[in-house]
Amino acid sequence: MTDTQDWTAAGFATRAIHAGQDPDATTGAVVPPIHQVSTFKQDGVGGLRGGYEYSRSGNPTRTALEEALAAVEGGARGFAFASGLAAEDTLLRAILRPGDHVVIPDDAYGGTYRLIARVFGPWGIEHTAVHLSDVDAVAAAIQPGRTKAVWVETPTNPLLGVADIAAVAAVARAAGAVLAVDNTFATPYLQQPIGLGADVVVHSTTKYIGGHSDVVGGALVVTDGAQLPVGLTGPTGTESLEDALAFHQNASGAVAGPFDAWLTLRGLKTLAVRMDRHCANAAAVARYLVDHSKVAEVIYPGLEDHPGHELAARQMSGFGGMVAFRTGSAEAALDVCARTRVFTLAESLGGVESLIEHPARMTHASVAGSALEVPDDLVRLSVGLEDLADLVADLGQALS
Ligand code: PLP
Repeated sequence: MTDTQDWTAAGFATRAIHAGQDPDATTGAVVPPIHQVSTFKQDGVGGLRGGYEYSRSGNPTRTALEEALAAVEGGARGFAFASGLAAEDTLLRAILRPGDHVVIPDDAYGGTYRLIARVFGPWGIEHTAVHLSDVDAVAAAIQPGRTKAVWVETPTNPLLGVADIAAVAAVARAAGAVLAVDNTFATPYLQQPIGLGADVVVHSTTKYIGGHSDVVGGALVVTDGAQLPVGLTGPTGTESLEDALAFHQNASGAVAGPFDAWLTLRGLKTLAVRMDRHCANAAAVARYLVDHSKVAEVIYPGLEDHPGHELAARQMSGFGGMVAFRTGSAEAALDVCARTRVFTLAESLGGVESLIEHPARMTHASVAGSALEVPDDLVRLSVGLEDLADLVADLGQALS
């Protein structure tokens, strides 16, 4: 009897809990074991058991995570990395060559901007930062023959801008460029970029997928048949994006370790229920802040006055757990960040505990002075799963 099942037709939570995670063939363990091992015995030279030879190239615990990620994103194959930026670095190396150009959001995550501008820039990659909610601006930024990738983040970090994935996908496709969508903020539970035309989905699994602030990781999920940019042949002699990513993951080796893969997989299993509560708490916190006299502006895609509200309602099945607000001055923003007690002052997001931070001086310090600079009176909240009354009371005392 085999425990192997096809979960492709199952619902989201079922796939998150079961895909790639068949009970262990030897023991029946219902959770994939942590294969904390670097190398695998061969039955004669090249006689691999299950295809495993060395844990940079492949490890069963990582395979379980990669299969589960592909299943929840509706993709053909997943790749797990040591961090979100390691995933991004591997993807960009696979699809770009010196002299190429890439379109990025004008409020991308600061680390993404730093990687593209300051690591890939010196290797001859140019970028144009545009307001991605303006599809005409994306089309105008395309340099025919040179633009090889369009990078979408939606909602963005930290300004929660919303981009129309299907519309940007059409622009990227017409240009022969790869469309990469960073789905970290929305998660596959709320948004399915591959169904909307993305070639590859990017994650910092450190955030909602891991969900417990106990592991750093990243992932890529490619769609079936995704191609490299027009005109590029990959290192294995094919135009397949999947082949190129598999080659680069092994060749540069920034892979997720077995324990990190296991923790991430454990987080993924509860993503659906956690996201429901993140969304509910964030919506209530946003409404509370809207009415607060010390708050100048609240930015949350679930609010009707958010410029991307209707698009988000169409494209996502919930508005997420991130809320940003402006206080009118940097001093007031720093003051709120210093005073909260339930919201912990810390970088990162997406964990069960609520976090508060000052993007201009913390997560987005690397974009200071660039076109992506964020306002210094902005406060970002990652609204966690605590009791709503405690979250609201904490913000109330911190703002008073
Ligand atoms: N993408 C987004 C939207 C992020 O917020 C982050 C990290 O904050 C990253 C990518 C990078 O991920 P990591 O910190 O896991 O390298």
